[in-house]
Amino acid sequence: MSAGAVAPVELAVADAAAVLDTAREVVLLAHVDPDADALGSALALGIALHRRGARVQVAFASPERVPESLAPLDALGLLVPPAEVNPAPQVLVSCDAADPGRLGSLGGLLDTAGRTVMLDHHATNPGFGDVRVLDPRAEATVVLAHRVLVAMGVPLDAEVARCLYAGLVTDTRGFRTAGPGAHRLAAELVEAGAEPAALTRALMDSHPFAWFEGLCAALERAVLEPSGLLYTTIPLADVRRYRSEEIDSVVDVLRTAVEAEVVASVMQVGERRWRVSLRSAGRVDVAAVAAALGGGGHRMAAGFTREGTEQEVLAAIRAALPA
Ligand code: AMP
Ligand code: MN
Ligand code: MN
Repeated sequence: MSAGAVAPVELAVADAAAVLDTAREVVLLAHVDPDADALGSALALGIALHRRGARVQVAFASPERVPESLAPLDALGLLVPPAEVNPAPQVLVSCDAADPGRLGSLGGLLDTAGRTVMLDHHATNPGFGDVRVLDPRAEATVVLAHRVLVAMGVPLDAEVARCLYAGLVTDTRGFRTAGPGAHRLAAELVEAGAEPAALTRALMDSHPFAWFEGLCAALERAVLEPSGLLYTTIPLADVRRYRSEEIDSVVDVLRTAVEAEVVASVMQVGERRWRVSLRSAGRVDVAAVAAALGGGGHRMAAGFTREGTEQEVLAAIRAALPA
C-alpha cells in the first residue's frame, strides 16, 4: 500500500459510522449461542444508538434465553426475542458472525433490511453485507465496534465500556492474546467505568459447585490419541443439566494438557447433533479444520456443528486434521 493510503477496513469503519449516524431504526444481531464478544458488540453499539434517539433492538436466534452471565450487559433492556424483531429494519448490524448461517433463523434479515453492516474478525468470514468491517487482526469484534463508535464521535460511558470490555477480555482469554492496541483499549474502558474484577469473575471465573461433578465426568472421558488429538464428549443429559457457561468452559481445561496439539470438546446438542469446540496449541490451524467440517473460526480457536453419531463426528475430526 502506498504511503498515506487508507486501509480498506478503515474505509469500512467510516462507512459503518456514516450509516449508523443517520439510522433511526436499527436491529443488531449476535451470532447463535452468543458469547460476550457477539453480544457485547451488539449491545455497546445498541446502547450508544439508543442514547442518540434511534429505535434499537438487539437479538440472537437461539437459544431462547440469554446466558445468565451475559444478561447484566443489557443495562437498558434492548434485547428482544427473535419473534419480536422488526422483520425489515432500516439498518441491520451483524456482530461477530463468521457467516450468515451463524445468524440462524434471523439470517433472512440480511435480505430484508434497508442497509446491512457486518462487523467481524473471523479469518474464515467470506464477506457479506453492504458495509463489511472485517478485520481478522482484531482480537475481538468489540475492537471494531469501538472503532465505529470513535468514528461516530460517541463518548464512552460505563454501560458501553462494560459491554466492550466483556468481549475484549473473553476473546483474548484474559488478555493472553491481546496486542498493544487491545491493552490500550482496555485501559480506556476501565477509565470509562468497566470493572475488570467483577466482570471477569462473572464472565470467566464462576461456576455452581454442582458443576464439579459434570466437569469430573467430562475429564474422566477425555482421550489423548497418539496424533496429539485430545478430546472429550459431553452427553446430551449434561448439556441440558448445566448452563452454557459450564459446558463451554470444558475446552479451556482440556487445552491446558501440554501433550495436546489439538483439543476438541464434543458436545451433544441433539440426539444426532454435535457442537464441537476446537483449540490449537499452535501448530495446527483449527479454523481450516472447522471450515472443512462446515464451521469456521480463528487459527487457534474454532468450531462447527454437525449431524451424526459420536463415532462419526470423531472420525470426521481425525480425517480433517493435517497428517
Ligand atoms: P467456540 O468453540 O464456540 O468458543 O468458538 C470458537 C471460535 O470459533 C469462535 O470465534 C466462534 O465464533 C467460532 N465458531 C464456532 N462455531 C462456528 C461455526 N459453526 N461457524 C463459524 N465459526 C464458528
Ligand atoms: Mn463469538
Ligand atoms: Mn469474537
